[in-house]
Amino acid sequence: MDNRQDLVTKYSRQAPRYTSYPPAPHFNEMGDDGSAVLHIEKRNTGSHPISLYIHIPFCASLCWYCGCTKVITRREGDSAEYLRRLFREMEILRRRLNPGNRVVQVHFGGGTPTFLSPDELRQTGKTLRSLFTFEDEMEFAVEIDPRRLTEDHVAALAEIGCNRASIGIQDVREDVQKAINRIQPMELNERVVRRLRNAGIHNINVDLIYGLPLQSRNSFEATLNEVKVLDPDRFAIFNYAHIPWMIPSQKLVDRHPMPGPHEKFAMLEMMIDNLTDSGYSYIGMDHFAKTGDELSLARQNGTLQRNFQGYSTRADTDIYGFGMSSISQIGDGYLQSVKDLDEYYRRVDSDQHPWFRQYYLTDDDRIRRHTIMRLMCDLQLDFSTIGRQWNIDAGAYFEDAVSPLEEMAGDGLIQWTDNGIRVTDTGRLFLRIIATVFDAYHSDPEKQGRYSKTV
Ligand code: SF4
Repeated sequence: MDNRQDLVTKYSRQAPRYTSYPPAPHFNEMGDDGSAVLHIEKRNTGSHPISLYIHIPFCASLCWYCGCTKVITRREGDSAEYLRRLFREMEILRRRLNPGNRVVQVHFGGGTPTFLSPDELRQTGKTLRSLFTFEDEMEFAVEIDPRRLTEDHVAALAEIGCNRASIGIQDVREDVQKAINRIQPMELNERVVRRLRNAGIHNINVDLIYGLPLQSRNSFEATLNEVKVLDPDRFAIFNYAHIPWMIPSQKLVDRHPMPGPHEKFAMLEMMIDNLTDSGYSYIGMDHFAKTGDELSLARQNGTLQRNFQGYSTRADTDIYGFGMSSISQIGDGYLQSVKDLDEYYRRVDSDQHPWFRQYYLTDDDRIRRHTIMRLMCDLQLDFSTIGRQWNIDAGAYFEDAVSPLEEMAGDGLIQWTDNGIRVTDTGRLFLRIIATVFDAYHSDPEKQGRYSKTV
């Protein structure tokens, strides 16, 4: 099948984004935290490089498309109340960690990390450095909402060591911004990027979203061209996940027409052509990086990783998440914290860990996680290498995958190689769908509705 329209019709299905395997909907509810504590203590008999994810849930207003776990508030004291619990949570966990662990990466996400006042940011940076040991060469990334960023915020971020900023822009057109309740003039974006660079925060990522109301291929190309003037090192261009049955506030965007799967597919093709012509490499899924960027280099030399923050260059790093709804990935285990603010406060105030769901990989999960992550990062699989690494006959192990892969080969999404498969240029656009072939949980009908469509 080489007609793009037919491919979109056939393969526009719901599928996970594979930032974890199994995907988070398959984590299990926890009774008590006994197994989680044991898992962390066992993992910490030796030291490991670690990554810290800090979730700041507050936002001053609701963007109608938003699928993040957030708390809408304008009350100034809310962030101080939250930080008190966040620092306590870190202290409770830190006792269980190996003192030799060194922090190689910090990521402030949200919500809106810059909802914190500049002094609260300084206090957070100071607390982190007092509780954990930081590597000299480390990545310190913060998600930025330009609508809430003062000059003093920028100074505070630079002081605490921030060296990468992810700027949420989404779309620069005013009609689209009105339709999603996020008014953010381009002059504001330009001013913020200038301030960050002047303060020494030179690594700039820009986040855009395609598939929003009133967007079209042509309008989004105009947005992309305007945003390229900011000269970001990386673009994350997310496919809008419209799942109003899971996130009722998304019904607010239904007032305006949204691009259908065929138009969205045309947008995806356009952005790949546009950005690769402008000196960016297509990393995979929704990510692009300048050709010399460390993500592009990792993609070329096969060391790219995939985790809850998307693509990463940090291999074998345990991620400890702090704050409500954060997810930790520690060795072969996942832990997720409660998503309700009051419950988070209640647990931390009574000196408990705030986790409510967990998952520990089986042998089968390990093999499948490795296979799916290598596919997402390398865009190819070598079954003889996988067989050697996991001491299996990979051909027999993935026997069930052969028939759907044959069909995908017939449709031009993959090619068979001597020892495995290679994703074609067309197949890159359906990467999540190709990955489902190796996912033992994907046929679970109960969880299907939780995922967005691939196109
Ligand atoms: S600022 Fe970000 S997290 Fe907050 S509502 Fe908007 S999109 Fe969601």
